[in-house]
Amino acid sequence: MKITIGAVCDPGTAMENKTGGWRTFMPVFDYDKCIRCAICEVACPDMCIYPDPVTANDKGKCLYKANYDYCKGCGICANECPKDVITMTLEEK
Ligand code: SF4
Ligand code: SF4
Repeated sequence: MKITIGAVCDPGTAMENKTGGWRTFMPVFDYDKCIRCAICEVACPDMCIYPDPVTANDKGKCLYKANYDYCKGCGICANECPKDVITMTLEEK
């Protein structure tokens, strides 16, 4: 294939690249231990952990969920969670 010098690609967005298909291990949350501190949300390099507003308590603090369409299974959230809420579990496909 011949590539033209100075070629321009169309703009894109990471939203179009569902990276969840790369995953071998998936984060599974044990919410009984969660203190709703949001460290997992901040630590996730793919920004795929989000607060679920339906779970907000009387102080407005939510439980956190992973969007598995974009979670690559890197395990950083599990490493950073101070309460061992998140377990990386072999995914069955
Ligand atoms: S880091 Fe752990 S304890 Fe904190 S909100 Fe996330 S899952 Fe809950
Ligand atoms: S395993 Fe990695 S990509 Fe998936 S939610 Fe945790 S930190 Fe984010």
